[in-house]
This record gives sequence, structure tokens and C-alpha cells, in this order.
Amino acid sequence: MPALLSQGRYRRLVPPPPAGIFAPVSDASDPAAVPTRVWIDQDKCTGDGLCVQYAKEVFEFDVDGLAYVKDGTGDLQTSPAARVDVPAHLRLDVIDAALECPGNCIHVQRSSDGVEVAGPDAQTVRTVA
Ligand code: SF4
Repeated sequence: MPALLSQGRYRRLVPPPPAGIFAPVSDASDPAAVPTRVWIDQDKCTGDGLCVQYAKEVFEFDVDGLAYVKDGTGDLQTSPAARVDVPAHLRLDVIDAALECPGNCIHVQRSSDGVEVAGPDAQTVRTVA
């Protein structure tokens, strides 16, 4: 049975590990509890601005009307697939932005191994509240 994750907002579809094999609790139960990075595929961005509403410290529009990620100093990263670290206090907001993104183009990845925890390549779905 899938585990209920962060504040009940989504569930992971990855099955639990077999009995007797212990996965790290932080990885298995809550991707917002581990360091993450984020990038945007601008080819799919609709420019609606939802991500900026969720985390303006991480997402911002450029002059082309598309959203990009910002690094820790606030510099916009405009090279293709540029990734930035997500501040710990914004992990849930960034994950929610990825889940709500109309372009389905925000990729949130675990920093340790690059596994996508939210976005089009993650095995997650939002729960119905
Ligand atoms: S929410 Fe997604 S589609 Fe909308 S501006 Fe942000 S990256 Fe683009």
C-alpha cells in the first residue's frame, strides 16, 4: 500500500521495500526531508506564473516570459536544464509547484542521486484532499 507523504499532499507509487530490507526513512517516506535540486524545461513552460507564486525565491520570469530557476544568490539561471539547490524551507513549496505546474515541466530531484521526486519523471501523484 502506498505511503502517505508530506502533509497528505501526494502519494508515492513506488512499492515499499521487501520485508527485511530497510530503506532510509527520509528517502522512503518524505522526499521533502532530503536535499533537492530543481530545474525547468522551458520548452514546455506555459508562462502562467504559478511556480513564482509558490516560491519566488526559486522561480522567476525572464524577458522571454518563461520561468527559470534562481540560485542562492538570486541569479537567474538561463542555460538549458540549469539546476539549483532548493533551500530546505522551500522544499514543500517547490514540490507543490512541480505537482501543480500546468506545463508539467518542473523537475525536482534528490541531490544525492538525481532521482526525480516530483515532476514529469517522478512516480508520484497528488492525492485528492
Ligand atoms: S508553473 Fe510551470 S508552466 Fe507555469 S510558469 Fe512555472 S514552470 Fe512554467
